[in-house]
Amino acid sequence: MEPRTLPRDVLRHPVLVLNRSYHPVRITSAKEALSLLFCGRAEALDAGYEPHDFAEWSRLPVEAGAPQVRTMRGALRVPTILLLREYNRIPRTPLRLSRRNVFLRDGNRCMYCDDEEGELTIDHVLPKSRGGQSQWENLVACCRACNLAKGRRTPDEAGMKLREKPLRPTWTVVIQLDGLRDPLPAWEPFLGQLLKRAS
Ligand SMILES: [Zn+2]
Repeated sequence: MEPRTLPRDVLRHPVLVLNRSYHPVRITSAKEALSLLFCGRAEALDAGYEPHDFAEWSRLPVEAGAPQVRTMRGALRVPTILLLREYNRIPRTPLRLSRRNVFLRDGNRCMYCDDEEGELTIDHVLPKSRGGQSQWENLVACCRACNLAKGRRTPDEAGMKLREKPLRPTWTVVIQLDGLRDPLPAWEPFLGQLLKRAS
């Protein structure tokens, strides 16, 4: 039964997509999730994490107030977690390099003094003026005071120590960053550690 009316906001609800091994693959929209469910490429997990195909899912009762769409047969619950049927590879989605994503990778704290209160800036570990590139491995979140103190020097020259070596985010971090905008409690068994580290 093709969903008939699809309110925009409900269609944008985030849905966690798991592969056959229950590993998080990505966050998608309810619109894509319903389409994967409808065409049989995925199953939806209920509150007890039991998988259901579209036919079963459409027979489940829909609680009042729960995200739902109207179909010709009645209300259809919008899933929060989807289990892919055949896809078992974990894609390595490149994460866009941006100020926001560098701050997120670094936990919104200064990578030199661990400050999380002050305004953050971006520091080139090897300064731009000395050939430092704008890439994941050379950019860190840095408070204004540390950025001023460091100036056009390397951390070694300035006697400052990086808390962690800046790295290009791996796929798990991609999931973490994408999911952060709207993580749902139901995702916790699959993303638990990631969400805890991020909060
Ligand atoms: Zn600092």
